[in-house]
Amino acid sequence: MTPQGARPSRTADLDVAVVGAGFAGLYMLHRLRGLGLRARVFERGTDVGGTWFWNRYPGARCDIESVDYCYSFSSDLLAEWTWTERYATQPEILRYLHHVADRFGLRRDIQLGTRVTSLRYDEPGARWLVETGAGDVVTARHCVLAVGNLSSVKRPDFPGLDSFLGEWHHTARWPASSVDFRGKRVGVIGTGSTAIQAVPQIAKQADQVYVFQRTPNYSMPARNRPLPPEELRAVLRGYPGRRRAAQMSDAGVPVPPPERSALEVSAEERRRMYEAGWRRGGINALSYAFTDFFTDELANFTAQEFAREKIRAIVRDRSAAEALCPAHHIGTKRTCVDTGYFETYNAGHVHLVDVRRSPVTRVTPRGLETAAGEYPLDVIVFAIGFDAITGAILEIDIRGRGGATLAGKWSGGPRSHLGLCVAGFPNLFIVTGPGSPGVLSNMVVSIEQHVDWIADCLSHLEGRGIDRIEASAGAEDAWVRHVNEIAGATLYPRASSWYVGANIPGKPRVFMPYVGGCGTYRRECEEVAGRGYAGFILGGTAAPPIAF
Ligand code: NAP
Repeated sequence: MTPQGARPSRTADLDVAVVGAGFAGLYMLHRLRGLGLRARVFERGTDVGGTWFWNRYPGARCDIESVDYCYSFSSDLLAEWTWTERYATQPEILRYLHHVADRFGLRRDIQLGTRVTSLRYDEPGARWLVETGAGDVVTARHCVLAVGNLSSVKRPDFPGLDSFLGEWHHTARWPASSVDFRGKRVGVIGTGSTAIQAVPQIAKQADQVYVFQRTPNYSMPARNRPLPPEELRAVLRGYPGRRRAAQMSDAGVPVPPPERSALEVSAEERRRMYEAGWRRGGINALSYAFTDFFTDELANFTAQEFAREKIRAIVRDRSAAEALCPAHHIGTKRTCVDTGYFETYNAGHVHLVDVRRSPVTRVTPRGLETAAGEYPLDVIVFAIGFDAITGAILEIDIRGRGGATLAGKWSGGPRSHLGLCVAGFPNLFIVTGPGSPGVLSNMVVSIEQHVDWIADCLSHLEGRGIDRIEASAGAEDAWVRHVNEIAGATLYPRASSWYVGANIPGKPRVFMPYVGGCGTYRRECEEVAGRGYAGFILGGTAAPPIAF
């Protein structure tokens, strides 16, 4: 229900409470309705859209191709929506999600502007008690957390920020009205995917741009372009096959897997493959060239060198070019995708400031101070990222059986069975949670898979009159071990990335996503369901165990 409409009951008894109305929450609600369940979605934003509601910064667009970064559950929806570019902009994706909410009549069960503050499991009543910041106390037999992986914003805690006389914004809390950079001196803090998209756009307007870089990142050219209607029609004609290929791939995109090691081909052949990827562009431009990109240091080094060479060839200022060259294993921090990012540094009014060497010390009334001096600014843009993967879940005070807190259970890092359920927290499901491929994949493909799995599971329970499902501690231990083991065989955990929580002081350093790929993971989930929810306790009775 929108804030404009009549207010829903503050004390309803629901079958399912869903938290979040982004891609995951919208589809979850649609599936729950199809099962005839009474569901309500709680969304803290003032409209639907999740990530695409909040991240309105200049240049925001998806870096998965639009024809793959969309729902596939309705062929009518697929046929009636026209994507206009290879990579959709934030406004286009938000329009799409509004269309989905309206077309499937979802809004009447979505309570906007409502933050869920606590979820408490009442064991005797087999109910979750859902409390919101708006004063609702609702009970629900099941809860689904569709809160997003990159939705808990890392707050700019720079001393002196309150004294700043200019304007400042976090990219993930961007105002709905556009920010006017004309004639202004703008400081951008951060050089992750967000900043790499925003800087070229800000530079088009601003008088001076200062990019405060602590760690450089690899970025692939997007090669964005308009999507001609005939190309879109051709994609739609082969869509089931294309989507199936995405579902069974590693990263949720329909790209054929590589076949050879980077080290078994000649240097010329390697270069030819990397050049072809670079010309094609996109996030997988280099990573899909060879099998050992993520696992072998030497193989990875060949791709790093190629990417650094490209930066040096683009950026004319020698010292800026060197400062922009990353040193970490490529791909182990989320690879960025850009349109003209490195080229922007060739403009006289764009300046790179190394805050690794001279860290930001404070914000002053006039600008930003680093150990090397003060930079007078009119606008500061904080593109400093998120408390990723677990942040938005743990913002809610979640208490399971016996009053145990999820924050306590996860104090050493997240633990779950399949990234979907947590032992001790019955009837609670997480969409694309830690321990699932989520952030390493095309999110919409992973979201559809999780939502379908959860809906099928609820249908299984309802059909048999089973009121409770809970991950068994043994299955959870086995899954966590498996997730860690396969991550440990890659280069991923070596990087200080948000995948391991390194960007949040005090967060346990644990590699959180499942690296085994979407296809393998899907088969695991299907096998678990096919064996009567192996590794779960149903209605107080343990289903058969499963080994990974
Ligand atoms: P991010 O990757 O975490 O980058 C944050 C940046 O801020 C880093 O460069 C970080 O430097 C810097 N930073 C943080 N605190 C700082 C401080 N105190 N002083 C100086 N620098 C500081 O965040 P993001 O760019 O918002 O991207 C997060 C994720 O969102 C991406 O990895 C991607 O998965 C997703 N995303 C996707 C798209 C898309 O699909 N098109 C677009 C944007 C974002 P350090 O590296 O040194 O910590």
